[in-house]
Amino acid sequence: MEQIAFMVADRPSYRQACFELIEAFVPGVDVLFNEPRPFSIEIDQSSDDITFRAREYDELQFIKSFKIPTGKPLDSESFKGFLYDFLCMIFNRSLPWGSLTGIKPVKIAHQYIAKEALSKEEASKKMQRCYEVSEEKGNLAASLAKRELPFLYPLDQKRVSVYVGVPICPAKCAYCSFVSTIADKKGLLCENYLNNLLYEIDMMAELVSSQNLTVDTLYIGGGTPSIFSEKQIQRLLGALKGTFIHPGLREFTFEAGRPETTTREKLEILKAYGVNRICLNPQSMNQETLDAVNRHHTARDIENTYRDIRDIGFRSINMDLIVGLNQEKPEQFFHSLDRVMALEPENITVHSLAIKKGSRMKAENGHHFKQLYTDDFYRAIEKNLKNRNYLPYYLYRQKYTQGNGENIGYAKPGYEGIYNLLMMAEKESIIGIGAGSSGKVYDVDDDRFEKVFTVKDVKTYNDRTETIVARKLDAYEAIAAKENKKRAFS
Ligand code: SF4
Repeated sequence: MEQIAFMVADRPSYRQACFELIEAFVPGVDVLFNEPRPFSIEIDQSSDDITFRAREYDELQFIKSFKIPTGKPLDSESFKGFLYDFLCMIFNRSLPWGSLTGIKPVKIAHQYIAKEALSKEEASKKMQRCYEVSEEKGNLAASLAKRELPFLYPLDQKRVSVYVGVPICPAKCAYCSFVSTIADKKGLLCENYLNNLLYEIDMMAELVSSQNLTVDTLYIGGGTPSIFSEKQIQRLLGALKGTFIHPGLREFTFEAGRPETTTREKLEILKAYGVNRICLNPQSMNQETLDAVNRHHTARDIENTYRDIRDIGFRSINMDLIVGLNQEKPEQFFHSLDRVMALEPENITVHSLAIKKGSRMKAENGHHFKQLYTDDFYRAIEKNLKNRNYLPYYLYRQKYTQGNGENIGYAKPGYEGIYNLLMMAEKESIIGIGAGSSGKVYDVDDDRFEKVFTVKDVKTYNDRTETIVARKLDAYEAIAAKENKKRAFS
C-alpha cells in the first residue's frame, strides 16, 4: 500500500492521530485526507458512537463501531485508541508500543510512578491498559522510569544542565539528517564558529550568575566537537571554566565521536579540565559498512583511540552502534557488538537506523526500506548486553526507523549518562549554547517546560551571532520574568 485516504470531518487532532498511527503500521505510506483513493478509511461520529469503515476500490472490507462514553466529548487520546483497535483489525497485528506514537514513552511511566505513586508493576499494567502496549514494553518503560528517579529527584528550580553544540564534522555520514556543516580544509569555519561560541558562553555565563543558577551537568556534543584543534579545545574549555565547569558538576561529557579527529593531546586537555565522560562512536565495527556510510576511519582506529582514552584515565566511556547500517545482517551487527563489548566501555547506546529528510540515504531511497530484523533479534541484543551487565537506562523512539524504532542507552550500574536521562525526563532546565542547541526552561511548580529555540546551521549562527544570542537571552529572561511571580527560575 503506497497511499491511504482518511475520510474524516475536519478535526485537526484526529488528523494527527490518523497520520501517526498509520505511519506506525505502514512506514512511509502517503496519507491523504478527504481525497478518495483506492484504499480509504471513513470515520463517522455521532454523539453516541464512532464507526470506522475500510474500503478497497469502494468495496467494504472492514467495519467497526465503538461506543463513546456518555456525557463526554471524544478526546483525541480516546479517538486514537479506537483508531488503533481498528487498524489492528485491518492489519491483523498489534504494535509493541500500542497506540503510543510519541518519542518518550518512559515519561508516561514516570508520571505514574512519581505522581500517582504506582509501583513499577502497576505502572506497567496501566500502560498496557491505557495504551495497549505489550507487557514487554510496559515492563521496560516502567523499569527505566524507576531506574531514573534517583538521578532526577529532588527537583530543583535552580539547577540547570548545559549543552554546547558544535555542529561541524569532517565529512557527512550517509545516514545523517542532522544539520551539521562540513569543515573547510583551512579550518576557517571552526575558528569563526569558536569565536562566536565564546561570545555566547560569556553572555550565558551572565545569565546563569544573574539568575543564581547552578550548572548540574555539561555536555559538549555535535557534530564532532573533537574537530577543534588542541588550542581551540583549550580556549573553549577555558571559557567554560568557572561558571560552567566547577567542582560541583555531576557529569561533564565530551563527544569525541570520530577517532580521526581525536588525538592524545586533545584527550589530555579534556582530562585536565574535568571531562569525566567521553563518547567514542564507532556506529559499526565492520569496515565495509564504515566505508559505505562515509565514515573515514577503521575499526582498529576506534580501538586505538579507546585505549588512549583509558590510558589517560577516563572512567566513563560511551560507544554508539547503529542497527541497520548498510543493511547489515544480524551476525554482522553482533560482530560489532562483541568487539565493542570486548573493550568494556561503561555505556553502549544502540540506535535503530532512521532515514530522515536531509540524509543521503533518504535522497536515494526515500523512507521506504526493507525491515530486516525480527523482534527476536532485538531481544538477543538486549540479552547479550544484560549478560555482560549492561542494563537499559534510557530510551527514545524515532520515526522512519529500521525495526522497532528504539534507541536504547545501556550502562553498567553506576555509570548511567545523567545528561541523557535529564534530556528524556524533562525535569530540569537545559541551556543550549551554539547552533542547533535549543534550550528548555522547566517549571518545577507546574511540572511543565517551555522551549527556547535557536538557529540550526553554523553559517547563519556565524553571520548573526549577536542578534541570535540576544533573542535567546530575551526568551530565557521573558520566561524567568513570567516565573518570577511564582519564584521559578529566579
Ligand atoms: S558525525 Fe554525526 S553529526 Fe557528523 S555527519 Fe556523522 S552522524 Fe552527522
